[in-house]
Amino acid sequence: MHTPPSTPEPGAAALDRRAVLAGALATTAVVALRNPSLSAASSLASGRAVHPSDPNPEVMAHELPPLPYADNALAPTISANTIGFHYGKHHKAYVDNLNALLKDLPDLAALSLEDVIKKSHGDAAKAGVFNNAAQVWNHTFYWKSMSPKGGGQPTGKLLDLIGTSFGGYDKFKEAFSTAGKTQFGSGWAWLVYEGGKLTVEKTPNADTPMARGKKCLLTMDVWEHAYYLDFQNRRPDYITAFLDKLVNWEFAAANLG
Ligand code: MN
Repeated sequence: MHTPPSTPEPGAAALDRRAVLAGALATTAVVALRNPSLSAASSLASGRAVHPSDPNPEVMAHELPPLPYADNALAPTISANTIGFHYGKHHKAYVDNLNALLKDLPDLAALSLEDVIKKSHGDAAKAGVFNNAAQVWNHTFYWKSMSPKGGGQPTGKLLDLIGTSFGGYDKFKEAFSTAGKTQFGSGWAWLVYEGGKLTVEKTPNADTPMARGKKCLLTMDVWEHAYYLDFQNRRPDYITAFLDKLVNWEFAAANLG
């Protein structure tokens, strides 16, 4: 789990489903090929990766993206124990569940993760696909929304937008914290850019603003599994620590573009 950030490599496209089914270990770059929007620095246009010499390229399985830092990098705010379960068990399970469900849905299986989410959103018959696909995307976005060197206020254009959208950083902090605290049960708090300004949203369970075509800048997981080992029932303390010590404004600024 001590995996550094990676950049796409041309050789990663050589993996195909047969290799995955054969139990081969996929390289992390495959994820960047399939999920270009998860990497703000990525310039890849395609959401799919295929074997360059295969005349009938088959769709690849979705992969568990690497953590952008070591599993103990956010400690003591978020412990390696929490990351071990949250990333290694929960996030991985969403990936595995999604791949299992897509085996019977070839039309959806041919799509990028983002398109799977958008196509299955609101379709009761595809709720399982949506929940697992969205949770894969949400968690990858969440890991990047935190940094060992994070916390505090943003700078530049983002700080200006926070000022015009919320009336100042403290007002943003209050709105984002309230969204996280008042999300009943499991869910997420988001910073979203829409119509020239920033807004805060909260979503239940796997739901995500990106399913409705919105541009997400940041997210905070408020499912109990995100904080219970470190904060027990004290969700407000987890939220305060997220904003004071972990929030990754560089990622948010890159998403703003
Ligand atoms: Mn989670």
